[in-house]
Amino acid sequence: MASFSFNSHITDILKQPDSKITILTGAGISAESGIPTFRGPEGYWTLGSKVYMPEELATLAMFNQHPQEVWEWYLYRLGVCLHARPNKGHQALAEMETLLKDRFTLITQNIDNLHIRAGNSLQRTFQIHGNINFTRCSKECCPELFMLEETLKSKRKNPSLSKTELDLLRCQNCNSWLRPHVLWFDEYYDEEHFRFESSLNIAANTNLLIIVGTSGATTLPNHVTTQVLEKNGTIVDINPEKNIFSDMAKSSLGGMFIQESSSLVLPELLSCCRV
Ligand SMILES: [Zn+2]
Repeated sequence: MASFSFNSHITDILKQPDSKITILTGAGISAESGIPTFRGPEGYWTLGSKVYMPEELATLAMFNQHPQEVWEWYLYRLGVCLHARPNKGHQALAEMETLLKDRFTLITQNIDNLHIRAGNSLQRTFQIHGNINFTRCSKECCPELFMLEETLKSKRKNPSLSKTELDLLRCQNCNSWLRPHVLWFDEYYDEEHFRFESSLNIAANTNLLIIVGTSGATTLPNHVTTQVLEKNGTIVDINPEKNIFSDMAKSSLGGMFIQESSSLVLPELLSCCRV
């Protein structure tokens, strides 16, 4: 039995034929699929005799110094993502998109591709931190994204890459290193790669914002939430832990903080869209 229920203000918004619903997801929803946040001990990585934190490794500065080692770390992380499966929370969001169509937008900080694998469309999913399955030229000689080659997708911890595999990590146009298509800690959001302005535009027209498993450590989720609050939208924060969005949600018009796991709450939200 669910220990929560959505209030009538929220269920009414879901049923209004012209209301806009935005979902903002973070690491919490994927943690329920077994993907660690990589901000904790599981993210540590050893290069030579030194142990690095994810905040040091996931940077353009580190990639410029140690491209192969940064790639080895990403290929390991990619393997973790590929072995994980979308959970009931992901599946509920994919079905919500099918029901709500262009009233629905998903903004995700997760690079693990689980939303797309669950069935959300690339068009309506703004991957604001990129997607670990894709690469692009590190020298930006061309705008295209490339899918990582299959042979690179099954690497375990501390892989040693062969010459052939290293060649697959080179840009076919200019032979520079390809880089993971992700936003690094020392880089900025933009529209071209990360749909920055589009996310803010969506926020400005959102009637109901559902925040899922997000701790609020990055700036764009904060901008999106503030924007919805300023426009008198309703905010629901779903998270087993209290976080910086919990009080913002409760202070919004008809908003709620639901201290529960998303794999329980999102299927319930989906059922409110059906009736
Ligand atoms: Zn290139």
